[in-house]
Amino acid sequence: MPTMDERTPEPATGPAARPLLNRGLAGFGTTIFAEMSALAAETGAINLGQGFPDTDGPESVREAAVRAIRDGRGNQYPPGPGVPELRQAVADHQLRRYGLAFDPDTEVLVTTGATEAIAAALLALVEPGDEVIALEPYYDSYAACIAMAGGRRVPVTLRPRDGTYHLDLDELRAAVTDRTRLLLLNTPHNPTGTVLDHAELAAIAELAVDRDLLVVTDEVYEHLVFDGEHHPIAGFPGMRERTVTISSSGKTFSLTGWKVGWITAAAPLVTAVRTTKQFLTYVSGGPFQYAIAEALRLPDSYYDELRDSLRARRDLLTAGLAEAGFGVHRPAGTYFVTADIRPLGETDGFAFCRELPARRGVVAIPNAVFYDDPARGAPFVRFAFCKRPEVLHEALTRLRASR
Ligand code: PMP
Ligand code: GLN
Repeated sequence: MPTMDERTPEPATGPAARPLLNRGLAGFGTTIFAEMSALAAETGAINLGQGFPDTDGPESVREAAVRAIRDGRGNQYPPGPGVPELRQAVADHQLRRYGLAFDPDTEVLVTTGATEAIAAALLALVEPGDEVIALEPYYDSYAACIAMAGGRRVPVTLRPRDGTYHLDLDELRAAVTDRTRLLLLNTPHNPTGTVLDHAELAAIAELAVDRDLLVVTDEVYEHLVFDGEHHPIAGFPGMRERTVTISSSGKTFSLTGWKVGWITAAAPLVTAVRTTKQFLTYVSGGPFQYAIAEALRLPDSYYDELRDSLRARRDLLTAGLAEAGFGVHRPAGTYFVTADIRPLGETDGFAFCRELPARRGVVAIPNAVFYDDPARGAPFVRFAFCKRPEVLHEALTRLRASR
């Protein structure tokens, strides 16, 4: 009997014969947010990288979750589409804020954060070979989910001009081919802070109708608009039946760990997305769903105060970064600022962000990760301002010291 070591090795046909990670996901390593938050934890640096607030959302909402757990609401699997209270609250929110009517039973689906909504929508609507147009720089999960669906990502790049980023509508039109299945929008836009205005959205809607495209629109920052106004593209002519709108409680209620998101769309689209969603998580966050149903009913003053408080912090961070020598792009929405490091004599945002915690005790995100061609985003870095003013002041003191 040969020992284990003497045996002739089997031909390499087993798991070792090819990379373990599905080749469609080759190159998708650890997300930049995890990498940079780990670096912040390791170095004790101020984390202006990953976008999460350093104060938790309203106490009444947190208490509502505790109450739901105690009362035994949502501790067992909630219904697949989400608890009726939350679906109704989402429908009421869309009607109250935007005048858009959705049937809570057939046109609303609760998801595990916007992240799952994005995944479920793309897996449902995209087939291998389909082209998906995404605004670049794009949120990292878009690329991964398009790849998981076997689609081809076609970036249309927002370009900096006069201190903000702009979409070139002609470039968008030119990117549409016979293989284009959908436009993946994000407004307010992470990481640039661009808010697409009414005229831009009207032009995009016209294009979608003309070329018979689906639209998946990520509107998680809908309540964080400081200049201008948020317009859901689902409200434009011809868009209701072709648009999947995604939002989430994470940003709106400063509860990013709860992972309660949702889509609103016409019933056939919701049915398609629900079909994939049920095999991803089936359901999640039962008690949190009840609490978010209450959160969505907070008075308008809640949303106004959140926006005003973040606007003040935007102004604080943009002014301070400019003083520290960065080129600053002023965000009209979201809680991120994109800064240009070239005025500091730097060109490589990756190297800059990897060294910044040790050099200055601050963490930022290199925008290069949000581009197909990282060179396009190389000199840009993103800072989050969803932190207490004293934390932003301290970060700015440290950054100013770097001059
Ligand atoms: N879309 C965008 C543009 C985001 O910035 C984020 C992140 N926070 C998400 C989706 C994910 O949202 P959630 O935490 O609800 O999954
Ligand atoms: N959306 C958050 C950001 O852009 C991060 C969420 C995540 O870590 N996936 O910073």
